[in-house]
Amino acid sequence: MTNRLFDGLMEAGRRDPGKRFAVLPDGRNYSYADVEAVSARFANVLIGLGVQPGDRVAAQVEKSIEALMLYLGTVRAGGVFLPLNTGYTGSEIGYFLDDARPTVFVCDPASRDSLAPLAEKAGARIETLGVWTSADRSGGSLFDAALAAPEKFDSVARAGDDLAAILYTSGTTGRSKGAMLTHDNLLSNAEVLRDTWRFTADDMLLHALPIFHTHGLFVASNTVLIVGASTIFLPKFDVEQVFRYLPQATTMMGVPTFYTRLLSDERLTREATAHMRLFVSGSAPLLADTHREFEARTGQRILERYGMTETSMSTSNPYEGERRAGTVGFPLPGVALRVVDAETGKELPQGEIGVIEVKGPNVFSGYWQMPEKTAAEFRDDGYFITGDLGLIDPDGYVTIVGRGKDLVISGGFNIYPKEVEIALDELPGVVESAVIGVPHPDFGEGVVGVVVAKGAVREDELTAALKERLARFKQPKRIVFVDELPRNTMGKVQKNVLREQFADLLSKA
Ligand code: AMP
Repeated sequence: MTNRLFDGLMEAGRRDPGKRFAVLPDGRNYSYADVEAVSARFANVLIGLGVQPGDRVAAQVEKSIEALMLYLGTVRAGGVFLPLNTGYTGSEIGYFLDDARPTVFVCDPASRDSLAPLAEKAGARIETLGVWTSADRSGGSLFDAALAAPEKFDSVARAGDDLAAILYTSGTTGRSKGAMLTHDNLLSNAEVLRDTWRFTADDMLLHALPIFHTHGLFVASNTVLIVGASTIFLPKFDVEQVFRYLPQATTMMGVPTFYTRLLSDERLTREATAHMRLFVSGSAPLLADTHREFEARTGQRILERYGMTETSMSTSNPYEGERRAGTVGFPLPGVALRVVDAETGKELPQGEIGVIEVKGPNVFSGYWQMPEKTAAEFRDDGYFITGDLGLIDPDGYVTIVGRGKDLVISGGFNIYPKEVEIALDELPGVVESAVIGVPHPDFGEGVVGVVVAKGAVREDELTAALKERLARFKQPKRIVFVDELPRNTMGKVQKNVLREQFADLLSKA
């Protein structure tokens, strides 16, 4: 038997092991033979650490080619890869470790001392993985162990419905849920994206996304791997580096913020992008204005797609044919998508706004150890209720019009207001709070906390206190004070009223 995901992803690369997989900013050249060998080394180390089929391997590490190989090595070892946002604080990490009970937790060497007690409490073995450079060879304990491990490994057999990864999504109740993704979920999505976006071995993808999220880890990396293509693997989105490497690239995937940043640089021209085959955007709404401005400057029409952690990619604008600004295109082959009435669950006539539901091989198998939550998010006929609001136009294009649950997306990251509200409400002097997203010139949306306080509480005190509790991307950019929160007759806070009231708060800053 095979290891469904790894063997599927490596089919092309194995036919041409000398082919380059990654161009790295430190000058190293990474071939498909290296992918095979280094993922084997990590798999050997993980097996040695006691990882059994189905065991979780959690990692909160900086982006590096080794971190990507740790993902592949985990899959080869039969484990379940659990990447964690590098911005999560110790208390957040404690929750994930307690909930997921990984066999191994891999962290940055610098965080080892502070996180070791949390790993111990959760019964996880702690290892470290740093960013190796030729100047600073401090790769961490896992890196050193991998160097000493054999570069041959017979991948553990795994079937299509076995788990390959768990990715936590922030929960609207404040509790994160672990979305369980199977080998088939990830492989089928890579196959569909390969065909839909016409990826071939000749492609060179500029990869500047984080790899703790579905976009950078699966959409970008798996699509490159499955065709035996190459990637320029950058540690993060840095405009200087992007312009430096762009001439070598054929394709780029990004969040809308990447595109607005490129647009604010005069080096973005028709000539600078003439050789590019494809620009893809997703993870948050791309403003139609950005789409049009990008085309006016470069002649390139950004291809916008839509997906989420639980479903991987569900829709895409067409490769050939009209890429319509402000829409996310059509359901991908094999994906069924419908728009239903939020209350009744009945399918709505075309053009009406409702909740988007999807079904297909891309849809995850449920939330880790939350059978009731899982059941609540699926219809009896197998459709997953995304919680996104949208509509289908007469030509079949899907448009996302809003997020049912007031999710804030800032710079491509999701922030669930409830989680920030809970943190705010715990602070001395705070009576209650409502957290909203308002337009932000750089991040699309920025987090704003609206607080009802008693006594003399200052914005800077609350801001400072939240730094200890929340990852940076979740921290409010501004906290404002009101006498009372606007509520409807049912007692629900009217966030739309607040969003209107504070609409200009961050754009004028
Ligand atoms: P995540 O699970 O972090 O990938 O976030 C998924 C959510 O991001 C979706 O449920 C949507 O609300 C939003 N999203 C992703 N892609 C798009 C898009 N192209 N347009 C609008 N919203 C999007």
